[in-house]
Amino acid sequence: MIQSLRGMRDIAGREARIFQWIEERARYFFELYGYREIKLPVMERTELFSRGIGDESDIVQKEMYTFEDRKGRSVTLRPEGTAGVVRHYIENGYDKRDPLKKFYYSGAMFRYERPQKGRYRQFYQFGVEAFGMESPLIDADTITMLVDYFRDIGVESPLVKVNNIGCPVCRPDYNRALQGYLRNHEERLCPDCRKRIETNPLRVLDCKRESCRKVVADSPDIADFLCDSCRSYDEEVQTLLSARKIPFERDRFLVRGLDYYVKTVFEIHGGEGAQNALMGGGRYDGLVEALGGQPVPGFGFAIGVDRLVSLLMETSLFEEDPGKLFMVWSLEEQALLLEKCDILRKCGVSVDFLPDKRSFSSQLKYAHRQGYRHVVILGEEEAQSEQIHLKNMETGDETYVSPYDIREHLI
Ligand code: AMP
Repeated sequence: MIQSLRGMRDIAGREARIFQWIEERARYFFELYGYREIKLPVMERTELFSRGIGDESDIVQKEMYTFEDRKGRSVTLRPEGTAGVVRHYIENGYDKRDPLKKFYYSGAMFRYERPQKGRYRQFYQFGVEAFGMESPLIDADTITMLVDYFRDIGVESPLVKVNNIGCPVCRPDYNRALQGYLRNHEERLCPDCRKRIETNPLRVLDCKRESCRKVVADSPDIADFLCDSCRSYDEEVQTLLSARKIPFERDRFLVRGLDYYVKTVFEIHGGEGAQNALMGGGRYDGLVEALGGQPVPGFGFAIGVDRLVSLLMETSLFEEDPGKLFMVWSLEEQALLLEKCDILRKCGVSVDFLPDKRSFSSQLKYAHRQGYRHVVILGEEEAQSEQIHLKNMETGDETYVSPYDIREHLI
């Protein structure tokens, strides 16, 4: 037997139906807020990610699926969606002539991480990117969209955690203050964080290790270092979120770690074990330029779909579509079976049947095992009638109804 690869899993059954449902709802909300879909390749030149995500990041250092193609060029399976969208944006010259663009995507991402619950080597993200807009309005509007979306699909009490991590004007001062503090406590930090003091001190703030958390608890707060522009940006985002009655709190340890992130960074937590972020996002005003385009601001986020699906598997508003029928049939003329199915399908009801001839009781048993709540009985007599002979599998009740009214009998 050939097994699937470690960290790669199949999504099927109820999980697949929840996935499909939340993807439909995500598209609905993204479109509602002016984002338009983009479908991107899952494979790109390696350098797009090493430059776009940053050579120092964990993703680039140890998590990418990178290999040579048949001509010896280094290619990488995308570990995230933003870099590809930025590549598309620059490649089409939008940064030069049409900078205001809003995209959304949905798809598989690949990271060579140690697999564990909620962490896979192939996982899925829905994300959006807004280019050319540097205004607290876009940050607040997009965060509002997300909270509305999470509520719509039944995430209990979504909570936005937000921070402002400064910009190239004020961050260097903060980095120096933070480095100074961290050097004084170096021996209490984990080995990764000791390295980060020099390479990426902000990242120490979101290390999950208990010992590092204790050290950073008393570290300097970036809020005391923000320049006037970042400070007023931050205040406006928070004012707008309050006005929209979005539940949020400032989390000064929330950072996105990568150089090009500026000002707003945020996460949304929800459901049980609320320390788990369902998504992450922020403003990346330096990224388009870092990838060879004009200096165009950007704002975006990515939702971790696998985590969301597993949360909803436990506490889901999601209800299976009741509009599903199984046809139990016994006919000499098989074309009549297809004709009856066709009528019902045109009425928007899903219909299935077993193609081999079996006894009624064997077909009913199969329908029961598959969890059908209703079946249609189709014998020679029913085939002559306009009415549908419907049987409720839970109560055993049988009725004759017009196919045009059938949906209301299925609820
Ligand atoms: P990131 O792109 O690292 O900012 O992550 C955005 C979201 O994707 C997170 O909130 C996670 O829920 C999800 N995510 C990241 N890595 C994985 C993974 N290996 N497996 C499953 N979900 C992931």
